[in-house]
Amino acid sequence: MTHALITGGAGFIGSHLAAHLLAQGQRVTIVDNLSTGSFTNVEPLQTHPDFRYAIEDIRNIHVMDRLVSECDLIYHLAASVGVQRIIQEPIETIEVNIGGTEIVLRTARRYRKKVLIASTSEVYGKGVRVPFHEDDDRLLGPTTRNRWSYAASKEVDEFLALAYHKEVDLPVVIVRLFNTVGPRQSGQYGMVLPRFARWAVANQPIQVYGDGLQTRCFCNVHNVVDAIARLAEHPAAVGEVFNIGANDEITILELADRVRTRARSASEIKLVPYDEAYETGFEDFRRRVPSIAKIKAAVGWEPTTPLDDTIDQIIAYCREDMAHG
Ligand code: UDP
Repeated sequence: MTHALITGGAGFIGSHLAAHLLAQGQRVTIVDNLSTGSFTNVEPLQTHPDFRYAIEDIRNIHVMDRLVSECDLIYHLAASVGVQRIIQEPIETIEVNIGGTEIVLRTARRYRKKVLIASTSEVYGKGVRVPFHEDDDRLLGPTTRNRWSYAASKEVDEFLALAYHKEVDLPVVIVRLFNTVGPRQSGQYGMVLPRFARWAVANQPIQVYGDGLQTRCFCNVHNVVDAIARLAEHPAAVGEVFNIGANDEITILELADRVRTRARSASEIKLVPYDEAYETGFEDFRRRVPSIAKIKAAVGWEPTTPLDDTIDQIIAYCREDMAHG
Protein backbone atom coordinates (compact mmCIF):
# COMPACT_ATOMS: atom_id res chain seq x y z
CA MET A 1 0.00 0.00 0.00
CA THR A 2 1.51 3.34 -1.05
CA HIS A 3 1.93 5.83 1.79
CA ALA A 4 1.60 9.41 0.54
CA LEU A 5 2.72 12.50 2.45
CA ILE A 6 0.86 15.68 1.43
CA THR A 7 2.36 18.99 2.54
CA GLY A 8 -0.40 21.58 2.68
CA GLY A 9 -2.83 18.69 3.06
CA ALA A 10 -5.43 20.74 4.95
CA GLY A 11 -5.59 23.26 2.14
CA PHE A 12 -8.13 23.43 -0.63
CA ILE A 13 -6.32 21.23 -3.18
CA GLY A 14 -4.42 19.17 -0.59
CA SER A 15 -7.56 18.06 1.23
CA HIS A 16 -9.21 16.97 -2.02
CA LEU A 17 -6.03 15.10 -2.97
CA ALA A 18 -6.01 13.37 0.43
CA ALA A 19 -9.59 12.16 -0.08
CA HIS A 20 -8.78 11.03 -3.63
CA LEU A 21 -5.75 8.98 -2.58
CA LEU A 22 -7.58 7.40 0.38
CA ALA A 23 -10.39 6.40 -2.00
CA GLN A 24 -7.74 4.70 -4.15
CA GLY A 25 -6.69 2.62 -1.15
CA GLN A 26 -3.53 4.57 -0.27
CA ARG A 27 -2.32 5.59 3.17
CA VAL A 28 -2.20 9.36 3.59
CA THR A 29 -0.40 11.61 6.04
CA ILE A 30 -0.80 15.35 5.80
CA VAL A 31 1.33 18.09 7.26
CA ASP A 32 -0.08 21.60 7.44
CA ASN A 33 0.48 24.65 9.65
CA LEU A 34 -3.11 25.82 9.01
CA SER A 35 -1.89 29.23 7.82
CA THR A 36 -4.34 29.24 4.92
CA GLY A 37 -5.57 25.66 5.25
CA SER A 38 -8.26 24.68 7.71
CA PHE A 39 -8.71 21.59 9.81
CA THR A 40 -12.38 21.47 8.85
CA ASN A 41 -11.24 20.57 5.32
CA VAL A 42 -9.94 17.22 6.57
CA GLU A 43 -12.29 16.66 9.48
CA PRO A 44 -14.37 14.08 7.55
CA LEU A 45 -11.17 12.06 6.87
CA GLN A 46 -10.25 11.80 10.54
CA THR A 47 -12.15 8.57 11.08
CA HIS A 48 -10.46 6.88 8.12
CA PRO A 49 -8.05 4.21 9.42
CA ASP A 50 -5.38 5.10 6.85
CA PHE A 51 -5.37 8.85 7.51
CA ARG A 52 -2.86 10.67 9.75
CA TYR A 53 -2.09 14.32 10.27
CA ALA A 54 0.60 16.57 11.73
CA ILE A 55 -0.28 20.19 12.40
CA GLU A 56 3.16 21.65 11.85
CA ASP A 57 5.17 23.99 9.65
CA ILE A 58 7.10 22.23 6.89
CA ARG A 59 10.14 24.24 7.96
CA ASN A 60 10.33 22.12 11.12
CA ILE A 61 13.16 19.88 9.96
CA HIS A 62 12.77 17.31 12.73
CA VAL A 63 9.13 16.64 12.02
CA MET A 64 9.74 16.61 8.28
CA ASP A 65 12.59 14.13 8.70
CA ARG A 66 10.30 11.68 10.44
CA LEU A 67 7.35 12.16 8.08
CA VAL A 68 9.45 11.83 4.94
CA SER A 69 11.27 8.76 6.26
CA GLU A 70 7.91 7.05 6.86
CA CYS A 71 6.28 7.76 3.48
CA ASP A 72 6.81 6.45 -0.06
CA LEU A 73 5.99 9.60 -1.99
CA ILE A 74 5.65 13.32 -1.22
CA TYR A 75 3.11 15.67 -2.74
CA HIS A 76 4.51 19.09 -1.94
CA LEU A 77 1.55 21.48 -2.03
CA ALA A 78 2.31 23.67 0.99
CA ALA A 79 2.84 27.26 -0.10
CA SER A 80 1.81 30.79 0.56
CA VAL A 81 -0.89 31.43 -2.05
CA GLY A 82 -3.45 33.96 -3.21
CA VAL A 83 -2.74 37.28 -4.92
CA GLN A 84 -4.20 39.28 -2.02
CA ARG A 85 -2.02 37.50 0.54
CA ILE A 86 1.10 37.81 -1.58
CA ILE A 87 0.65 41.56 -1.78
CA GLN A 88 -0.03 41.86 1.94
CA GLU A 89 2.65 39.42 3.18
CA PRO A 90 5.47 39.24 0.66
CA ILE A 91 8.15 38.16 3.20
CA GLU A 92 6.14 35.13 4.26
CA THR A 93 5.44 34.23 0.62
CA ILE A 94 9.08 34.27 -0.40
CA GLU A 95 10.37 32.57 2.75
CA VAL A 96 7.78 29.78 2.89
CA ASN A 97 7.84 29.06 -0.80
CA ILE A 98 11.60 28.88 -1.14
CA GLY A 99 12.62 27.76 2.37
CA GLY A 100 9.87 25.15 2.64
CA THR A 101 10.69 23.57 -0.69
CA GLU A 102 14.41 23.49 0.17
CA ILE A 103 13.61 21.44 3.27
CA VAL A 104 11.26 19.09 1.43
CA LEU A 105 13.82 18.38 -1.29
CA ARG A 106 16.76 18.03 1.09
CA THR A 107 14.80 15.58 3.26
CA ALA A 108 13.52 13.67 0.22
CA ARG A 109 17.11 13.26 -0.94
CA ARG A 110 18.13 11.85 2.46
CA TYR A 111 15.57 9.02 2.10
CA ARG A 112 15.46 8.92 -1.73
CA LYS A 113 11.72 9.61 -1.92
CA LYS A 114 9.89 10.78 -5.02
CA VAL A 115 8.54 14.34 -4.83
CA LEU A 116 5.79 15.99 -6.81
CA ILE A 117 6.11 19.77 -6.60
CA ALA A 118 3.09 22.00 -7.12
CA SER A 119 4.11 25.05 -9.09
CA THR A 120 1.88 27.59 -10.76
CA SER A 121 0.82 29.15 -14.03
CA GLU A 122 2.11 32.43 -12.53
CA VAL A 123 5.61 31.40 -13.65
CA TYR A 124 4.57 32.17 -17.24
CA GLY A 125 4.15 35.77 -16.09
CA LYS A 126 2.70 37.99 -18.75
CA GLY A 127 2.95 35.11 -21.21
CA VAL A 128 4.77 35.46 -24.46
CA ARG A 129 2.29 33.42 -26.50
CA VAL A 130 -1.07 31.80 -25.75
CA PRO A 131 -1.63 28.94 -24.96
CA PHE A 132 1.28 28.51 -22.56
CA HIS A 133 3.55 25.53 -23.26
CA GLU A 134 5.83 24.09 -20.60
CA ASP A 135 9.00 25.02 -22.52
CA ASP A 136 7.96 28.58 -23.38
CA ASP A 137 10.03 31.63 -22.51
CA ARG A 138 8.61 33.56 -19.57
CA LEU A 139 8.19 37.26 -18.94
CA LEU A 140 7.85 38.60 -15.39
CA GLY A 141 7.34 42.18 -14.25
CA PRO A 142 9.80 44.23 -12.16
CA THR A 143 10.92 43.23 -8.66
CA THR A 144 9.40 46.46 -7.30
CA ARG A 145 5.93 44.95 -7.84
CA ASN A 146 5.05 42.45 -5.10
CA ARG A 147 2.88 40.29 -7.28
CA TRP A 148 5.88 38.89 -9.12
CA SER A 149 7.52 37.59 -5.96
CA TYR A 150 5.15 34.63 -6.04
CA ALA A 151 6.14 33.63 -9.58
CA ALA A 152 9.81 34.20 -8.76
CA SER A 153 9.63 32.07 -5.59
CA LYS A 154 7.92 29.27 -7.48
CA GLU A 155 10.40 29.33 -10.32
CA VAL A 156 13.22 28.95 -7.79
CA ASP A 157 11.33 25.87 -6.52
CA GLU A 158 11.21 24.49 -10.05
CA PHE A 159 14.92 25.15 -10.66
CA LEU A 160 15.82 23.55 -7.35
CA ALA A 161 13.70 20.45 -7.94
CA LEU A 162 15.13 19.99 -11.43
CA ALA A 163 18.63 20.49 -10.03
CA TYR A 164 18.06 17.71 -7.48
CA HIS A 165 16.88 15.52 -10.31
CA LYS A 166 19.85 16.25 -12.58
CA GLU A 167 22.59 16.29 -9.98
CA VAL A 168 21.61 13.53 -7.56
CA ASP A 169 18.96 11.68 -9.57
CA LEU A 170 16.11 12.48 -7.17
CA PRO A 171 12.78 11.52 -8.78
CA VAL A 172 10.79 14.77 -9.08
CA VAL A 173 7.69 15.76 -11.04
CA ILE A 174 6.64 19.41 -11.42
CA VAL A 175 3.07 20.48 -12.08
CA ARG A 176 2.01 24.01 -12.97
CA LEU A 177 -1.51 24.47 -11.72
CA PHE A 178 -3.75 26.92 -13.55
CA ASN A 179 -6.87 28.41 -11.94
CA THR A 180 -8.18 25.51 -9.86
CA VAL A 181 -11.65 25.87 -8.39
CA GLY A 182 -14.22 23.96 -6.39
CA PRO A 183 -15.78 23.57 -2.99
CA ARG A 184 -13.64 24.53 0.06
CA GLN A 185 -11.61 27.17 -1.78
CA SER A 186 -11.44 30.28 0.33
CA GLY A 187 -12.08 33.71 -1.14
CA GLN A 188 -10.12 35.29 1.69
CA TYR A 189 -6.84 35.45 -0.20
CA GLY A 190 -8.18 36.82 -3.46
CA MET A 191 -9.45 33.85 -5.48
CA VAL A 192 -12.23 35.00 -7.72
CA LEU A 193 -14.84 32.22 -7.82
CA PRO A 194 -15.47 31.74 -4.10
CA ARG A 195 -15.69 35.53 -3.77
CA PHE A 196 -18.24 35.82 -6.56
CA ALA A 197 -20.26 32.95 -5.11
CA ARG A 198 -20.36 34.55 -1.67
CA TRP A 199 -21.43 37.91 -3.02
CA ALA A 200 -24.07 36.32 -5.25
CA VAL A 201 -25.54 34.21 -2.45
CA ALA A 202 -25.65 37.27 -0.16
CA ASN A 203 -27.16 39.42 -2.95
CA GLN A 204 -24.28 41.87 -2.54
CA PRO A 205 -22.53 43.60 -5.45
CA ILE A 206 -20.13 41.30 -7.33
CA GLN A 207 -16.84 43.15 -7.68
CA VAL A 208 -15.13 42.64 -11.03
CA TYR A 209 -11.63 44.11 -11.20
CA GLY A 210 -10.43 46.16 -14.15
CA ASP A 211 -12.65 46.10 -17.24
CA GLY A 212 -13.58 42.46 -16.62
CA LEU A 213 -12.48 41.46 -20.12
CA GLN A 214 -9.45 39.57 -18.84
CA THR A 215 -9.92 35.83 -19.28
CA ARG A 216 -9.09 32.75 -17.25
CA CYS A 217 -9.65 28.99 -17.63
CA PHE A 218 -11.13 27.35 -14.54
CA CYS A 219 -10.56 23.68 -13.80
CA ASN A 220 -12.49 21.65 -11.24
CA VAL A 221 -10.38 20.52 -8.29
CA HIS A 222 -11.58 16.91 -8.63
CA ASN A 223 -10.13 16.81 -12.15
CA VAL A 224 -6.94 18.49 -10.93
CA VAL A 225 -6.24 15.99 -8.11
CA ASP A 226 -6.84 13.14 -10.52
CA ALA A 227 -4.21 14.65 -12.87
CA ILE A 228 -1.75 15.12 -9.98
CA ALA A 229 -2.14 11.53 -8.78
CA ARG A 230 -1.77 10.10 -12.26
CA LEU A 231 1.44 12.05 -12.94
CA ALA A 232 2.91 11.08 -9.58
CA GLU A 233 2.60 7.43 -10.53
CA HIS A 234 3.77 7.73 -14.11
CA PRO A 235 7.45 6.76 -14.43
CA ALA A 236 8.01 8.86 -17.57
CA ALA A 237 6.83 12.02 -15.78
CA VAL A 238 9.99 12.10 -13.65
CA GLY A 239 12.18 15.13 -14.36
CA GLU A 240 9.37 16.79 -16.35
CA VAL A 241 7.11 19.84 -15.99
CA PHE A 242 3.38 19.59 -16.79
CA ASN A 243 0.58 22.14 -17.08
CA ILE A 244 -2.66 21.14 -15.36
CA GLY A 245 -5.74 23.16 -16.16
CA ALA A 246 -8.76 23.59 -18.35
CA ASN A 247 -8.40 25.29 -21.70
CA ASP A 248 -11.78 26.91 -22.29
CA GLU A 249 -11.55 30.63 -21.65
CA ILE A 250 -14.13 32.84 -20.00
CA THR A 251 -13.98 36.58 -19.28
CA ILE A 252 -14.28 37.55 -15.62
CA LEU A 253 -17.30 39.68 -16.46
CA GLU A 254 -19.04 36.68 -18.04
CA LEU A 255 -18.06 34.58 -15.04
CA ALA A 256 -19.72 37.10 -12.70
CA ASP A 257 -22.88 36.96 -14.78
CA ARG A 258 -22.82 33.15 -14.86
CA VAL A 259 -22.44 32.91 -11.07
CA ARG A 260 -25.22 35.43 -10.55
CA THR A 261 -27.59 33.53 -12.86
CA ARG A 262 -26.85 30.11 -11.40
CA ALA A 263 -27.28 31.42 -7.84
CA ARG A 264 -30.54 33.13 -8.90
CA SER A 265 -29.10 36.22 -7.33
CA ALA A 266 -30.16 39.85 -7.49
CA SER A 267 -26.56 41.11 -7.14
CA GLU A 268 -25.39 43.96 -9.34
CA ILE A 269 -22.04 43.63 -11.08
CA LYS A 270 -19.66 46.42 -10.17
CA LEU A 271 -16.38 47.28 -11.92
CA VAL A 272 -13.57 48.14 -9.49
CA PRO A 273 -10.25 49.65 -10.71
CA TYR A 274 -7.18 47.47 -10.09
CA ASP A 275 -5.44 50.17 -8.04
CA GLU A 276 -8.33 50.12 -5.59
CA ALA A 277 -8.61 46.33 -5.51
CA TYR A 278 -4.93 45.52 -5.02
CA GLU A 279 -2.18 48.16 -4.96
CA THR A 280 -1.04 51.04 -7.14
CA GLY A 281 0.49 49.84 -10.38
CA PHE A 282 -0.94 46.30 -10.04
CA GLU A 283 -0.40 44.28 -13.19
CA ASP A 284 -3.01 41.67 -14.12
CA PHE A 285 -2.85 39.08 -16.90
CA ARG A 286 -5.18 39.55 -19.81
CA ARG A 287 -5.24 35.89 -20.74
CA ARG A 288 -3.98 32.74 -19.14
CA VAL A 289 -4.53 29.52 -21.08
CA PRO A 290 -2.64 26.26 -20.66
CA SER A 291 -1.62 23.91 -23.41
CA ILE A 292 -2.54 20.51 -22.00
CA ALA A 293 -1.09 18.50 -24.87
CA LYS A 294 1.82 17.25 -22.76
CA ILE A 295 -0.22 15.80 -19.88
CA LYS A 296 -2.74 14.35 -22.30
CA ALA A 297 0.01 12.54 -24.20
CA ALA A 298 1.64 11.32 -20.97
CA VAL A 299 -1.32 10.02 -18.94
CA GLY A 300 -4.38 10.57 -21.16
CA TRP A 301 -5.81 13.23 -18.81
CA GLU A 302 -8.12 16.06 -19.76
CA PRO A 303 -10.66 18.00 -17.73
CA THR A 304 -14.18 16.59 -17.73
CA THR A 305 -16.32 18.69 -15.37
CA PRO A 306 -18.22 21.51 -17.13
CA LEU A 307 -17.77 24.97 -15.56
CA ASP A 308 -21.49 25.29 -14.78
CA ASP A 309 -21.36 22.11 -12.67
CA THR A 310 -18.35 23.49 -10.82
CA ILE A 311 -20.11 26.81 -10.22
CA ASP A 312 -23.11 24.89 -8.82
CA GLN A 313 -20.83 22.93 -6.48
CA ILE A 314 -19.22 26.15 -5.26
CA ILE A 315 -22.57 27.89 -4.71
CA ALA A 316 -23.88 24.86 -2.76
CA TYR A 317 -20.75 24.79 -0.61
CA CYS A 318 -20.97 28.52 -0.05
CA ARG A 319 -24.63 28.36 1.05
CA GLU A 320 -23.80 25.60 3.52
CA ASP A 321 -20.72 27.42 4.79
CA MET A 322 -22.63 30.66 5.26
CA ALA A 323 -25.47 28.83 7.01
CA HIS A 324 -22.92 27.56 9.54
CA GLY A 325 -21.62 31.07 10.07
N1 UDP B 1 -10.91 39.17 -9.67
C1 UDP B 1 -12.06 39.95 -9.64
N2 UDP B 1 -12.72 40.08 -8.44
C2 UDP B 1 -12.30 39.50 -7.30
C3 UDP B 1 -11.13 38.69 -7.33
C4 UDP B 1 -10.46 38.54 -8.54
O1 UDP B 1 -12.48 40.50 -10.66
O2 UDP B 1 -12.95 39.67 -6.25
C5 UDP B 1 -10.21 38.99 -10.96
C6 UDP B 1 -8.70 39.18 -10.89
O3 UDP B 1 -8.34 40.53 -11.03
C7 UDP B 1 -8.23 38.34 -12.05
C8 UDP B 1 -9.24 37.19 -12.09
O4 UDP B 1 -10.38 37.66 -11.37
O5 UDP B 1 -8.28 39.04 -13.27
C9 UDP B 1 -8.74 35.91 -11.44
O6 UDP B 1 -8.27 36.22 -10.15
P1 UDP B 1 -7.68 35.13 -9.16
O7 UDP B 1 -6.99 35.86 -8.06
O8 UDP B 1 -8.73 34.15 -8.81
O9 UDP B 1 -6.62 34.33 -10.03
P2 UDP B 1 -5.32 34.80 -10.88
O10 UDP B 1 -5.32 36.28 -11.04
O11 UDP B 1 -4.18 34.30 -10.09
O12 UDP B 1 -5.50 34.11 -12.19
